[in-house]
Amino acid sequence: MAGEPQEDCLFCKIAEGHVPATVVRETETTMAFRDINPQAPTHILVIPKAHYPNAAELAAAAPQLVADILQETGNVAYDEKLESYRVVFNTGSGAGQTVFHAHAHVLGGRGMQWPPG
Ligand code: C5P
Repeated sequence: MAGEPQEDCLFCKIAEGHVPATVVRETETTMAFRDINPQAPTHILVIPKAHYPNAAELAAAAPQLVADILQETGNVAYDEKLESYRVVFNTGSGAGQTVFHAHAHVLGGRGMQWPPG
C-alpha cells in the first residue's frame, strides 16, 4: 500500500534505523542524512519516512510531505551555511535514480554547472 514500508527498500530501512546513516536532521515525517557517495562538499539526502517510489508519486499521494521535504532542504542549507545550493529529485533510472524511495538531494559547497549532466 502507498506509504507503507517496503521490505526491500534501503531508505525504508534507514528511516526505521535498521541500516546506519549519518543523520543530520529528523522530523516526525522526514529524515536527512549525508549521502554515502558525496558529489559536493555538502551532499545530504532528505527523505520522507513513508515509502513512495519517486517525487511525483509522493506529490500525488501526500502533497504535505513534499512541503515537509522542501522545508527540510531549506533547514539543511541553513544548518550547513550554504548560500547557494541545488535541490534535485532524480526521477526514473534514465535520470539517475537508483534508490526508488523518494528523496531530495541537497548539494552545495562548490560551484554548479547548468545544464546539469
Ligand atoms: O537519485 P539517486 O536514486 O541516484 O540517489 C540515491 C543516492 O543514495 C545516491 O547518491 C547514493 O550515493 C545514496 N546512498 C546513500 N546511502 C546508501 C546507499 C545509497 O547515501 N546506503
